[in-house]
Amino acid sequence: MRVKQWISLFLCVIILLPGCAASEEKKTEREIFAMDTIMNLTFYGENGEQAMTAAVSEIQQLEKTLSVTKADSEISKINAAGGKKVTVSKETYDLLSACIQYGNDTDGLFDISIYPLVKLWGFTTEKYHVPDKAERDAVIKKIDYKKIELLSDCQVRIPSGMAIDLGAAAKGYLSQKIIDLCKEKKVTSCILSLGGNVQTLNTRPDGKPWQIGIQNPNGQQGSLLAVLSVENKAVITSGGYERYFEEDGNTYIHILNPKTGYPADSGLVSVSVISENGMLADALSTSLYLMGEEQAAGYWRTHADEFDMILETEDGTLYVTEGISQEIQTDNTTIVLNTEE
Ligand code: ADP
Ligand code: MG
Repeated sequence: MRVKQWISLFLCVIILLPGCAASEEKKTEREIFAMDTIMNLTFYGENGEQAMTAAVSEIQQLEKTLSVTKADSEISKINAAGGKKVTVSKETYDLLSACIQYGNDTDGLFDISIYPLVKLWGFTTEKYHVPDKAERDAVIKKIDYKKIELLSDCQVRIPSGMAIDLGAAAKGYLSQKIIDLCKEKKVTSCILSLGGNVQTLNTRPDGKPWQIGIQNPNGQQGSLLAVLSVENKAVITSGGYERYFEEDGNTYIHILNPKTGYPADSGLVSVSVISENGMLADALSTSLYLMGEEQAAGYWRTHADEFDMILETEDGTLYVTEGISQEIQTDNTTIVLNTEE
């Protein structure tokens, strides 16, 4: 058995920063490790330092609350309750509620009760394992976000044996929170990269759009698939190259299909979602990856006011929605998706 795994420390997105002398604005930067990834925060303006202190404590607090591996997190308490009710914070309660809604919107492809399957494939322990059909079938029975009960007074209950994992949306939720905090603290502009998930506030301090480089999933780390100009948006990418293993010539990635019990195998190799809403972008990057190009395009056509996207298929073609087609630079063959088919 050959097992290979690579977790990039500076995942799929590279921020192309303005050259020096671009601005007189005060810059506050911080790099921290949290939620199993490296996070880079860059704030501009006089209030940057104060906002940074608040942002770092927010990151630490959310990691403590949402982690599926820390035994005393709120999520772990729900998972370990053996079918009993658990009282959680209003924030966790609302987050679970939003994730249930994403499950409904994606016909259950986005399912936060995926954790037993993530464990079965060994993605939590890095002791990878390709399960047989019987194992998969046994675990699929435990997955159904509709069985998560959100009760009164912030109480949550899930059936015994079920388990929640917010890994597909937590970083987007967090980046959105930091952006909201920066707005509140009157940071003039900021850019965050939480393990490759980027979110921006306003423009670069020199007034130009941020330039976000999207990692080429087939290339060397740092080789770019595209460069995208954005203002005030999240750019969140899911790629099979982030966390995966290989066995007997097959590659198995960490985005799992709750219906088949198998890793995503939809013909896509990278999905970036561009939206003003970081959490929506994160939940969708995972879901659209599972859908594949055709279904993702259909989904976008009914939600075009909420997000744009860049899909890369296995042959290197990029499908780019019309809202960002003028903002992207790439050498790959590009097909622009319009709202009318
Ligand atoms: P990353 O967190 O690496 O940026 P994603 O946002 O795509 O990538 O999230 C992948 C994580 O989401 C997996 O590690 C797993 O914890 C969880 N997950 C995998 N498949 C699903 C799914 N179908 N629905 C919800 N969560 C999922
Ligand atoms: Mg995601």
